[in-house]
Amino acid sequence: MRSLVLEESGENPRLTIEERELPPLGPRDVLVRVHACGLCYHDVLVMQGVLRRGVKERVVLGHEISGTVVQVGEGVDSFQVGSQVASIFTEPCGDCEQCRWGREQRCVRGRGIGHRIDGGFAEYVKLHQNALVSLPSGVDMDIACIYGCPVGVAYNAITAVAQLQAGERALVTGAGGGLGVHSIQIARAVGAEVFAVTSSPEKEERLREMGADHVILVGDLDFSEVVMALTGNVGVDVVVENVGGLTFRSSLGSLAQFGRMVILGAIGPGRVEISPAELIFRDARIMGTGGATRQQLREVASLVEQGHIHPVVSQSFPLEEAATAYRLMRESKTFGRVILKP
Ligand SMILES: [Zn+2]
Ligand SMILES: [Zn+2]
Repeated sequence: MRSLVLEESGENPRLTIEERELPPLGPRDVLVRVHACGLCYHDVLVMQGVLRRGVKERVVLGHEISGTVVQVGEGVDSFQVGSQVASIFTEPCGDCEQCRWGREQRCVRGRGIGHRIDGGFAEYVKLHQNALVSLPSGVDMDIACIYGCPVGVAYNAITAVAQLQAGERALVTGAGGGLGVHSIQIARAVGAEVFAVTSSPEKEERLREMGADHVILVGDLDFSEVVMALTGNVGVDVVVENVGGLTFRSSLGSLAQFGRMVILGAIGPGRVEISPAELIFRDARIMGTGGATRQQLREVASLVEQGHIHPVVSQSFPLEEAATAYRLMRESKTFGRVILKP
C-alpha cells in the first residue's frame, strides 16, 4: 500500500511515498481502505517539528479519516466488510477511568492516530474498532473524514465545554480555519450571535456565508475594542479561541461578565500573561479542550444530515502533493479544511 512517510520534520519537512505491506490485524482491529484524510494543524505542527513528544519514527500522519472496512480482525463486533466509517483521533480502550467517565478522547491508554501509530495518509490504515463510527449510507465521504476533527472538536468545545446558549454572543478566532468555519456554524446552530475574527480580508464574504453576523479583520489592532464597540461595551459570552497566544489578550479583553473562553488551538507563540484580578473582576472562566468522542461524531453526522452544519472541504490533494497542502496551511491560505486522497 502507498503510504506518505514523514522522514524528517522541519520548516521544509521531508515527506516520501513508500510502498508498505498491509499491516496484520490484531484482535478487534479493522483494516480501512482510506477514502480521504483531512490535513489538521496537528499534522502541520508535527511536520514542522514543533510537536515531537510521543511521535512515532517515520510516522504516517493523519487522524481525520473516512473510508471503507475491507477486513476485520478476530472479535470485531461493530463493523463488517463494506462498512463506511470515520475516525476519532485516538484509539480508546473502553475501560480506563476516562473512558468510563465518557471522556474517551482522553483515554489513558489511548494511542494517537497519525501520531503514536500510523494514520490515514495512506491507501489503508489499521485501526482498533473503538476509534471508528459507522456512517449513514449515502454520506459524502469527502466531508465525512472531518466529522471527528475538526467538526466534532468544535462541537464538543462549544456545546459540552463552553455550554453556549441560544441568545448568547460567541466570538471565534482563526475563523477561516478548519476549527473556525465549523465553530461559526455550530455557534449559529445553537442560536448565538456570532463574531468572527480573521486576519485574511479575502475570507470575509465566505465567513458571512458560514453564519457570522460580524466579521472583524485583525492586523496588529486589539480587536477587543471593536467587540466592545459592537456590543455596547458588554462583550461576548463565549470566546472560541482557535489561535492561542497571538489572539489571547484581545480574546480575554472581549469577554463579558461571566464570560467563558475555550481554547482549542495553539499556533505560534506559546506564552501569555494574565492578571488574576482580570479574571476575578470578570468572573471569567478559561478552559482548554481537545478531541471528541464517538458519540459526538455521531451527533455531528446527524446535524450534517439535518442541514445544520455544512462541513467545509475546500481543496483535495493526492498524497504526492502533501507538501503543497502543508505550505498552504502554513501561509493561512486555506479555507475550512483541505484533505488528502490516496
Ligand atoms: Zn485534526
Ligand atoms: Zn480508556
